Amino acid sequence: MIPTLNISQCRARRQLTGELAFEFEPEADLVEIPFVAFKGPVHVHLGYAIAEDDKVEVEAAISFTLAGACSRCLEPAENLISDTMQCLFERGTGDGESYGFLGGVVNFGEMLRDAVLFALPSRILCKGCSEE
Ligand SMILES: [Zn+2]
Repeated sequence: MIPTLNISQCRARRQLTGELAFEFEPEADLVEIPFVAFKGPVHVHLGYAIAEDDKVEVEAAISFTLAGACSRCLEPAENLISDTMQCLFERGTGDGESYGFLGGVVNFGEMLRDAVLFALPSRILCKGCSEE
């Protein structure tokens, strides 16, 4: 499950920075490599900092495994993908550069979907092919 961040609760606790570790099931159709699919959940380690103006800086490290057929030789292959993403959340709808949040609650769902999309490679390779 993807947790949410309640800004007013954080302020009440005077906890303006923090870290979250969790995992979630990605949407299977994000992967467009033939004969390849997610294996297991996406692991997330996320750090946040809430500023005076309620802007929230987020840095997320994600990792997940892709498994299926090697894009070159079709032998079984499994690749661990990891990536980091930094972004900004602000009250309202966001402006394309930033993500928006409403009601004082930050939802990381859209950002994490984008993070997975950006991290996805265009192919995976088996051991043999990646050593060539
Ligand atoms: Zn191969």
